[in-house]
Amino acid sequence: MGAQLIDGKAIAAEKRKAMMSRIESMKQQGFVPGLAVILVGENPASMSYVKGKIRDCKEVGIYSELIRFPDTVTEERLLAEIAELNENKEIHGILVQLPLPNQISEQKVIQAIRPEKDVDGFHPINVGRLVTKQEGFVSCTPAGIIEMLKAIDVPVAGKHVVVVGRSNIVGKPASLLFLNLDATVTICHSKTKPLSQYTQQADILIAAAGREGLIHAEDIKPGAIVIDVGMNRNAAGKLVGDVSFEEVKEKAGFITPVPGGVGPMTRVMLLENTLIAADRQNKKSSL
Ligand code: NDP
Repeated sequence: MGAQLIDGKAIAAEKRKAMMSRIESMKQQGFVPGLAVILVGENPASMSYVKGKIRDCKEVGIYSELIRFPDTVTEERLLAEIAELNENKEIHGILVQLPLPNQISEQKVIQAIRPEKDVDGFHPINVGRLVTKQEGFVSCTPAGIIEMLKAIDVPVAGKHVVVVGRSNIVGKPASLLFLNLDATVTICHSKTKPLSQYTQQADILIAAAGREGLIHAEDIKPGAIVIDVGMNRNAAGKLVGDVSFEEVKEKAGFITPVPGGVGPMTRVMLLENTLIAADRQNKKSSL
């Protein structure tokens, strides 16, 4: 194998360990960080993500509340719950698990969360803060990618970063984060033709399209850093990324596995954002 593996699971475990002592010292000052997670309906994937988030909070000592609604819940009821959580002093972060049923506007719900408690970083105010390089909250997956690169000591300034995918939760915020770190950024999407002409130029390639087997060895530059965000089920039901791992690892400099790469980093960044939110709100209230 040519490439070095970036072990997201191990990096995330280190981060959780460091967080535990931060949380312990917060608690000694009589202050417990808190996260509220709202789950609507019984989508199995959403249920399993939410379960993981609550378990992660327990593990590091963050107080968490799971608030469940049936999928028949009205938008009004959901907005009323968020309004209450916005005022709740024990809750510093609010997360609404997406997707939501059709009768509810996701944009309305996201915008109802106070930006200071928007630990998912989806509120337009936080997106605007990212665009203008101000302090706010950044979506967990892109933030996790940057943390990963920091952990392996890869400088980003001056590098050509090619991001495949332009979604609001991964591709766009990842591109902006890299731009803010002085990388040269190319954003590709489903209309980019031919994709390989761009990916072959990447010093750092972020594959976030959700397409199994999109990136092959011939699509990358030798020695490139390849970050695979994709989570796809292959024909055998196995979780795979967007990158053909076995062939690309022979040519890349660094590569993330799926699972065990970006996924665990995404999870740990939610905890990190909750701690940041708690810290900021605590400082504000003690002014
Ligand atoms: P979306 O479906 O919202 O966005 C996919 C993006 O990829 C779109 O911008 C789309 O282009 C682009 N795209 C699709 N097909 C191609 C193609 N053939 N060539 C180039 N670009 C293409 O997905 P998300 O951003 O939400 O997620 C992306 C992947 O990452 C998914 O597999 C998801 O499961 C995974 N994911 C993993 C996380 C983790 O923690 N590991 C967290 C979040 C997501 P266009 O805009 O033109 O349609």
